[in-house]
Amino acid sequence: MKLNKASISFRIGIAMWGDKQVFEALLDLFDRYPGATDDLAFFTSHTHPPLPADVIVERAGILKLRISAAKERGYGAGINILATLGHHEENLPHSIGSDYPRMVSLEGALCRGVLCPNADKTYDYSTQVYTALALAEPDFIWIDDDVRLHGHAPIVAGCFCDTCLALFRQRSGVDYTRESLSKAFNDAQQREKLRVRAEWMEHNRATINRLFAHIEKTVHAVRPRMPLGFMTGDRFFEGYDFAKWAETLTGPDGIEVLWRPGGGFYDDVMLAGMTMKSHDIGRQVSVLPDSVVCIQSEIENFPYQTLKKGRVLTSLEAASHIASGCTGAAFNILAMNPVFDQTAPFKEHEPFVEKMAASRPFYDLLVSTVGRSAPQGLYTGWTKNSFLASNIAGDWLTGNIWEDIAAPGREMFELGLPAAYRPDAAQVTMLSGDSVMALNDGEIRQILSSGVYMDAKALGRLNERGYGKLTGFRSIDFICEDSIERYVDHPMNAGILGALRDCRQSFPGWMKPAAVLEKTNDDAQTVSEIIDYADDVMAACGSGVFENELGGRVFVGGYFLWRFIQDLPKVTQLKALMRWLSRDSIPAYVSSFHRANLWARDIGADAPAVILINPNIEPAEGLRVAIRTPRDAVNVFDMQCRKTTLGSTQSDGHYRLFELPAVGPWEMRLVV
Ligand SMILES: [Zn+2]
Repeated sequence: MKLNKASISFRIGIAMWGDKQVFEALLDLFDRYPGATDDLAFFTSHTHPPLPADVIVERAGILKLRISAAKERGYGAGINILATLGHHEENLPHSIGSDYPRMVSLEGALCRGVLCPNADKTYDYSTQVYTALALAEPDFIWIDDDVRLHGHAPIVAGCFCDTCLALFRQRSGVDYTRESLSKAFNDAQQREKLRVRAEWMEHNRATINRLFAHIEKTVHAVRPRMPLGFMTGDRFFEGYDFAKWAETLTGPDGIEVLWRPGGGFYDDVMLAGMTMKSHDIGRQVSVLPDSVVCIQSEIENFPYQTLKKGRVLTSLEAASHIASGCTGAAFNILAMNPVFDQTAPFKEHEPFVEKMAASRPFYDLLVSTVGRSAPQGLYTGWTKNSFLASNIAGDWLTGNIWEDIAAPGREMFELGLPAAYRPDAAQVTMLSGDSVMALNDGEIRQILSSGVYMDAKALGRLNERGYGKLTGFRSIDFICEDSIERYVDHPMNAGILGALRDCRQSFPGWMKPAAVLEKTNDDAQTVSEIIDYADDVMAACGSGVFENELGGRVFVGGYFLWRFIQDLPKVTQLKALMRWLSRDSIPAYVSSFHRANLWARDIGADAPAVILINPNIEPAEGLRVAIRTPRDAVNVFDMQCRKTTLGSTQSDGHYRLFELPAVGPWEMRLVV
């Protein structure tokens, strides 16, 4: 489907809509900046646990008036219910009564701010509040990201109450107690452990799906054509079943579903957090069906500290998330507190609204160019089952599978190499740590028959599972001190032969053992060796490449594969490697030595659309993009939508090279 513009909303707290005068001033503010927003989404509360149903019913009465007033001014207007289940323990004295069953941890502890997702009383509560909200005649209702089962403080995960365990008994046929279930997750034999974990993740998928089926029925009974939206983050423990949940929310009549992917990036103190969040969001979007077209990224400065995240980053953030797959943005950057100065109620926020209106043409240009096309390139091997492998040797629920999934991209995606989020859009898969334990044999064979770049831990896991013939290497030892990587005579090291990379193993922040590799096939080739500070060889093979019988091209590295990879020799080698691994099928990358974020979107033409960010505080000069295309001219758009037409400076195999005019600090360019 061709989209002709972005979809933008602002989320509005009670402080902004509760008082009629303040609300009118808010509408005046948006009227002054046409295009800043299409929709207003009104929060039902500003604290996260569920409020008593009668409070929500009363608020819905006022919201009906506000929604009508906003629509009169030409805005789409709907409701963002902040608490369906609830989140954290906040404002408990004024929240829903303790007679509503709460979420329970595997140890039997309560989260007093969150309801059990399967309790009858939770369903009764949703019937009451969702009916009241639908009666306010909203254009849409957003379900917030409290509908999740992991990350509600003070517990780690839920729900393991007796009701939920009884439901699981119907699925598993086993009468688990919390104690025996904990043993099954954490202490059983690996095969059995993975089986029970998988069963519990199916149970989690079904828990959310059942609740959504109930919400869908409830709201569409009152307002049959009204879209529902859902806000997510990376939902690994919940089973990442976005496609199924979207299908359920659409209901039997095929009503539109909206999506709001999110993640934690609340201030611009650590700027790289913005693009890391774009990759989190790219994963979330990658599993949505094509029928979901309105995908607004969450943009927040929570807890609403305006100086913590400036206008430039706020504006760029929306564009960055569009680059990784969204088709719009939802700004949650206005105050939640009552207006301090009645004479100038939005003094603090008006510059942001002005900036978003100014950015709007660029958002529209991005979305109308790339639509719902998938980013193509390097994929981190995650799937909706990845959480199975979380802390495979220990406590399942506290494991950090996110690290295995995010680490490969953290520095690699700053090298101007393109990020992809799903296997069918991958030219190279990057495998790290235990995450491969969550892959099934079909998925592994698929990965090993294409381009794959993996660390020693992933190698060990694959060999354990019987794939040694396809990997070409094994680890035979580990070196914990003084190891340095040296590039040996190999085509991947053209121009960098003999260069060193010393990641300083003795520094406590990153003491990581280096694997000593051994070739298990005569066709495997060494790319680097490991030496010490006296130039003595500690490992004859520290990394290498192998082409297996499936035609898959494999790189295995045992030395700091994901970190400290940003010096010239390593970057040169990595780009050569990625081209070799992918058989020159990567759609685009930055071929000059620059730090840059890049997404290549397959828009069905004979060239991808390329979106890139200069994530530096100096301008990027002489930045060259290699694009796999027969075309010898491209158009480059800056964030003001100014167009420059460029001819190719040279070609390199299937690629044409284009040197961009200087890209300013933290600016984006669209190349088509
Ligand atoms: Zn429960």
